[in-house]
Amino acid sequence: MSQQSTFAEIADALKNHQSFLMLSHVRPDGDAIGSELAMGGVLEEMGKTVYYVNEDGLPTNLEFLAGSEKIQLPPAEPLDIEVVVALDCATKPRLGEKSLAAAAKAKLWINIDHHISNPAYGDLNLIDATSPATGQILYNLIKDQDLPLPAVTRDNIYVAVSTDTGSFQYGSTTAATYRMAADMVDQGLKVGEINALTYDNHPYRRVELLRSLLNTLELCAQNKVAHWELTREVKEQLELLPEDSEGLIDMIRAIQGVEVAIFFEELMDGQIRVSMRSKNKNIDVCQVAQQFGGGGHKMAAGIRMPGPMSDAKPQVLAAIEAKV
Ligand code: AMP
Ligand code: MN
Ligand code: MN
Repeated sequence: MSQQSTFAEIADALKNHQSFLMLSHVRPDGDAIGSELAMGGVLEEMGKTVYYVNEDGLPTNLEFLAGSEKIQLPPAEPLDIEVVVALDCATKPRLGEKSLAAAAKAKLWINIDHHISNPAYGDLNLIDATSPATGQILYNLIKDQDLPLPAVTRDNIYVAVSTDTGSFQYGSTTAATYRMAADMVDQGLKVGEINALTYDNHPYRRVELLRSLLNTLELCAQNKVAHWELTREVKEQLELLPEDSEGLIDMIRAIQGVEVAIFFEELMDGQIRVSMRSKNKNIDVCQVAQQFGGGGHKMAAGIRMPGPMSDAKPQVLAAIEAKV
């Protein structure tokens, strides 16, 4: 089965099972971890047993999330669970090998996501590419099916959606998104507090990283493409963590006249991680990402490809330049 499921089918599957594993993509962002904690919060409120796993564990920038201490690295042995809920993850392999091994005993897979490139790899699939974040799909499911919305779920959905919409700024933000946020404030969400924890709480090394990235900044394609790069050397020198670069690409995306921003990062295993943002609806960076085995959304997509940087970078830049 790989077609779309209804909210009712998903809710029935949640009600009719007892033990669950929450998973999300490698290098998790606010929508990935936030959606795990939000969905798990609903299930715990329903009296279920819930495990929370991510291949890369909990990033330090998300330690403030309510319930985040429950996020574990994949255990060595498969977990005794009936159902996996894969959240915010475009493809099954992007959950990570160890996470997939931990999920081996599951008899049912539920796939909840908003990536247009998602092939519907679950037994039940709730994929809405019009949703700005997986968190908003969860909110719609909860409201439609009258599921519990405990404070932990409320706060995590808010952060999931806030981080995936660039603080409710991107064009993907809808009237329903603002209504959802308003409903959450009505229900006691502390806006100032949670936004300060999300956005005004960076380690100093992140600013040092920004300084280093700015030194590599280049424009090409008649200044319509801005790109910068991070090497392994700089990562070691500044003792960076993977999450330290989260969101920095928005800085060059914001340059006047720039239509595509690209961040090239050399991973410790020598692979190249490419992060792309488009500001032009006619430039679909997901299509470009898919040419290299990556994926994502029209306006924000990513790739993991073989190195070295000197091979990967010109290939991706050429593919982008062909589109602008
Ligand atoms: P990022 O640039 O890492 O913030 O990713 C932008 C969007 O593309 C996010 O929604 C990611 O989940 C998605 N994405 C990033 N890398 C990949 C990949 N290798 N395969 C599929 N989707 C990806
Ligand atoms: Mn994500
Ligand atoms: Mn997302």
